[in-house]
Amino acid sequence: MSTASLVASCSATACAFNDGGCTAYAITVGGSSDKANCVTFVALDARAAISSENGQVGTCHRLECVHNADLLCTAGEITVSDTADCLSYEVA
Ligand code: SF4
Ligand code: SF4
Repeated sequence: MSTASLVASCSATACAFNDGGCTAYAITVGGSSDKANCVTFVALDARAAISSENGQVGTCHRLECVHNADLLCTAGEITVSDTADCLSYEVA
């Protein structure tokens, strides 16, 4: 049984879940075959109430990423850019 990967850092400060880091309980990573991005990103005039920076990858659609196993991220932790891209995305 694998554990979810942490969002170690996220630079997308426009996201309502960003409060010095990702506070979303579980993010979803989607995107396209040349780019993985956090589809939980949302720009709202609010900040999520959970104030600990403990975001995790709930699921990831990028099956071609070397870290993906059955829609789960096995990287351990990921880094997310200011444009909400998964910087840990890697295709063999
Ligand atoms: S990882 Fe996604 S949900 Fe979390 S703060 Fe960054 S863009 Fe928002
Ligand atoms: S490292 Fe790969 S499997 Fe993990 S969230 Fe990013 S794109 Fe998905």
